[in-house]
Amino acid sequence: VVGYYNGQYVNPSEAAIAIDERGHEFGDGIYEVIRVYGGQPFLLEWHIERLQNSLNAIRITSPYDANGYRELIQNLLEKSGETEASIYLQITRGSAVRNHLFPAAEITPNVSAVVRPVPDKGEQTPGKLLMQPDERWANVYIKTLNLLPNIIAKQAAHDAGADEALLVRDGKMIESASSNLWFVRDGELITAPTDRYILPGITRRFVLELANELGIPVREEKLSVTELSSIDAIFITGTLSEIFAIDTVLSHPDLPVSTPLQDVAPHPIVVTPDTCKTEW
Ligand code: PLP
Repeated sequence: VVGYYNGQYVNPSEAAIAIDERGHEFGDGIYEVIRVYGGQPFLLEWHIERLQNSLNAIRITSPYDANGYRELIQNLLEKSGETEASIYLQITRGSAVRNHLFPAAEITPNVSAVVRPVPDKGEQTPGKLLMQPDERWANVYIKTLNLLPNIIAKQAAHDAGADEALLVRDGKMIESASSNLWFVRDGELITAPTDRYILPGITRRFVLELANELGIPVREEKLSVTELSSIDAIFITGTLSEIFAIDTVLSHPDLPVSTPLQDVAPHPIVVTPDTCKTEW
């Protein structure tokens, strides 16, 4: 594992960060997670593009241009010697005496990174989602450090024996806590459009490109919770979760999920409300 902080290689669990670091005090920063396969950062250009979009959205001047990011990542990979790895890259507004207002212009962003090996997952069996109300803010498209609603939802999913959360806003199924959400219905792929309420996933973008190449029809639309009963299959996508099949959706007591579940889908989905288990 190799860590990096403002030009120095560090031990990520020992490096000291100033208490008045704005990422630490306010979550005032953004991040990216990049997967490395066979020594090559996968879809790196799209990650750099999204990183720059996130920085622009919260008005942090990018400390590097695209080439600077490419070099930084190449150096980190060489230093780590890892070939199957994840790269966590974080940029915050900088360190300054705590004040909600942005610090003076001479404060420079703090850049940190960690390269970690990714173990082989082996063969995976399909997983479960737990429906949770989407309690995140209205600018989810920015990949900010403020992940408290995401981690609470994911922990609730874990506690319920599920792998991920299925976040529901205004009765619509939006995405997961750290993955995008996909449905298959009548041979069509369905995923939420990239408005401000979803994170524009790099893996989502890649799957869209693959579907396009393969001639698989795609509809970018938010499905209602009540439409679950018409779904043939579900999967989620993310840089580290890759493409992960789902065969079970657990409902949340606060959500109206009492769908008629008599239809038998080609790939069975089990919906398990708290009180009863309905298979269809
Ligand atoms: N949605 C959310 C909320 C995420 O945090 C992530 C990744 O962390 C994703 C979707 C998937 O994005 P990507 O495919 O770029 O990893």
